[in-house]
Amino acid sequence: MRKLLPYSYYGGDTDEQQQFYSELRPVTIISQSVGLVSWLAAAILLAAGGQSLHASLLFGVPGMLLSLVISLRAGSVKSLVVSGIIGTTATAFAFRLLMAYCPDPTFWVLPVGTVLTLSAAPIFGGMINYIGAAVAVWLILTVGNFPAQPGQLTFNLALLVMGSSFAMAIYLHAYFLNLRVRSHRARRELAEMAFKDLVTGLNNRRKFTLEVRRMQLLPSPLPLFFLMIDIDDFKKINDTLGHDAGDDVLIHTAQVLAGLGAGHLCGRLGGEEFGVLFHGEAADALDFAAALLDGVRAATHPPRTVSIGIAEFDRDSDLSVSYKRADEALYLAKRHGKNRYVLAGGMQAAA
Ligand code: GH3
Ligand code: MG
Ligand code: MG
Repeated sequence: MRKLLPYSYYGGDTDEQQQFYSELRPVTIISQSVGLVSWLAAAILLAAGGQSLHASLLFGVPGMLLSLVISLRAGSVKSLVVSGIIGTTATAFAFRLLMAYCPDPTFWVLPVGTVLTLSAAPIFGGMINYIGAAVAVWLILTVGNFPAQPGQLTFNLALLVMGSSFAMAIYLHAYFLNLRVRSHRARRELAEMAFKDLVTGLNNRRKFTLEVRRMQLLPSPLPLFFLMIDIDDFKKINDTLGHDAGDDVLIHTAQVLAGLGAGHLCGRLGGEEFGVLFHGEAADALDFAAALLDGVRAATHPPRTVSIGIAEFDRDSDLSVSYKRADEALYLAKRHGKNRYVLAGGMQAAA
């Protein structure tokens, strides 16, 4: 029940609302335009029949136009709900005014009410908002405009039409909402799969690279450091203990990285290599590297080690430039005995 509650108003979390907004906006605009055009066509037909429609034009059209303008300018699902409520009630009101000029106004109450409430159902943001708007539509069309009394056959038949169209409208609303939620979730899962490394849950190389490009454009007074982290003698772990044991070391290393590197960009670059774009001063980047060396040893049994190459990130060049310098530093760390970090053009330290 608590899960359904957000959908009763605007629909789910902020991300879902953004998605619903982009899906619902065009269909809202089209349905409001169709309402306006149908109303104008009906008004023209009545005028051709010799009716003077001043009052109806004066009071009916502004509401419909207002809702269309709100939909055209809407930036969120909430504005679409507002325009939906104004649009459906204004259209009901405009048709009610037109009905007064028809030879048999009562005849039009049920078809107009049914079309209005049914067509709005699948595209309305939020069940509660929709029910409110649908009740308002029926009240606008019927009060003082439907002479049948309770108990009379016409009255009961009218109730039946309203009840069944209302039930169908609620079903359509729920059905289309469910479709929208499912398509949104599928899209979110696909995006996750495209950007996440399946073994470790870290950003994959593609996402890491994209985020690096994004971050290098952000102005910041602090420098960035690119760290390449490579598990030592990983092939030996695979060869002696098997691939699953190798995966286990990958997962534990990634957990240490994600924990200590929270707030910095972390990813798996491929194989047993990880990357971090560290945002901070050089001394902090070196402390971070030292903490990683300790962290991985503490998290693995028997203790495994990593080597780390560090290079100050060159914001003005492509990632490949800093990548190459960090890779060279990593090579030095391996050559000098592994289980250590090396800063390109600078110091090195063993754990
Ligand atoms: P060094 O200490 O010099 O880094 O040597 P190393 O053995 O760690 O490095 P090497 O490049 O020789 O071997 C990396 C191995 O990583 C080879 C490959 O089979 C293995 N590998 C790559 N991806 C995965 C993976 O997803 N899971 C597992 N278990 N192994 C992987
Ligand atoms: Mg390697
Ligand atoms: Mg290695």
